[in-house]
Amino acid sequence: MSYRLFQIDAGFQNYEWGNIGSKSVVAQFAHNSNPSKIEIDPSLPYAELWMGTHQSKASVEHKTGTSLQELVEKSPEEFLGAQVINKFRSTREIPFLLKVLSIGKVLSIQAHPDKELAQKLHFRDPKNYPDDNHKPEMALAVTEFEGFCGFKPLEELDSLLQKIPEFREIIGEELVHMFHENIFTGKVEMNSQEDHKNRKLLQQVFSKVMNLPDSRVYTSTKLLVKRTYDEPELFGHDLCKLIQKMQSDFPYDIGLFCGCLMLNHCILQPGEAMFLQARDIHAYIRGDIVECMAASDNVVRAGFTPKFKDVDVLVDMLTYSYEDVEMQKMRPEIFTRSHGDGYDNLYDPPIEEFAVLQTILNKKDGRREVEGLRGPSILIVTKGEGTIQIQDENDSKLNCRPGFIFFIQPEVKIQLRSSSDDFVTYRAFCEVNH
Ligand SMILES: [Zn+2]
Repeated sequence: MSYRLFQIDAGFQNYEWGNIGSKSVVAQFAHNSNPSKIEIDPSLPYAELWMGTHQSKASVEHKTGTSLQELVEKSPEEFLGAQVINKFRSTREIPFLLKVLSIGKVLSIQAHPDKELAQKLHFRDPKNYPDDNHKPEMALAVTEFEGFCGFKPLEELDSLLQKIPEFREIIGEELVHMFHENIFTGKVEMNSQEDHKNRKLLQQVFSKVMNLPDSRVYTSTKLLVKRTYDEPELFGHDLCKLIQKMQSDFPYDIGLFCGCLMLNHCILQPGEAMFLQARDIHAYIRGDIVECMAASDNVVRAGFTPKFKDVDVLVDMLTYSYEDVEMQKMRPEIFTRSHGDGYDNLYDPPIEEFAVLQTILNKKDGRREVEGLRGPSILIVTKGEGTIQIQDENDSKLNCRPGFIFFIQPEVKIQLRSSSDDFVTYRAFCEVNH
């Protein structure tokens, strides 16, 4: 059989923050893709669908169940292309991991190491840091999405420190005062001396929060939550609601301080995206997203988690960027190598492991061709129905429904056809030097 274009089934993860049962788009997709094997358990959370060759959940060929990783390893040139093999020096793995996440409650506040730090951490502690790769990631909202992303602008943080007694108390009068007196506000040039001083001050405040003794976390968070009911005007409506909601997701957690009070609360509308560089702090709160990342599973966690927290590493590693939340969003670009009905949006972050192409056929009986891409790609249908085929090869036609996933080899021209209104696909791909 030819492996130029074929259907695959993805593995999934039942992390406890996922949406429950068939309310989760991850469960729906997994079931649609393989109805005879995947029964949805109405009591289980379905959090993540994993599409790629990552060792802990490699996707499999739909018909035979053969692991995609094995197929890649058998014919690396055909599956990855020479350029990708040369660049990433692997004949076994696709350089990216594509996921769908269905988030019901907040995931841990986290950051991912860059390459250098990932190697160090993996060497020192392979149990908590399972591989030596970096993990830049990009989130594309499928439904309205809510998350934390980067630190709040410093004026905002300063004002919260001044106003909220519990926050002041855990930071201490001395540092609160020092922060207030020494931060540079207004327009501060990136990487200027002022900017460095600002980041240092921010780091001191964050470190203080993260090192709060466990014995004090419960009382401080309890008082903070109480104050949102007693004096909501101190926080403003949105912040009040956010703290109360986080308290119900993850009661009495330090994340109420290091997340709600320190990080940007960011909302993405469907189609909007954000890219997280290595060492940027973030957390996802709610919504369905398509996520793409470099193939890695390294996470350093700060809050809203029962898992291992590596506070010293975290405090030390962060970028401490404090930009306005709008600055963190990514704008889609026009893709020039496709034509026909409908349109594409290209999300192309400044790294080489991946880009994501969203294709939309907004009416029935539409056709859209995409030229061959120079590396491996994985496409998932998220909405509507239609077919996918190798261009000009009618006998290669495969059915498309939400949750159907396809692997496409390098240089294979494809055609998508819609048989319903609003047919949407996301395709992650890796092209070196584009
Ligand atoms: Zn992350």
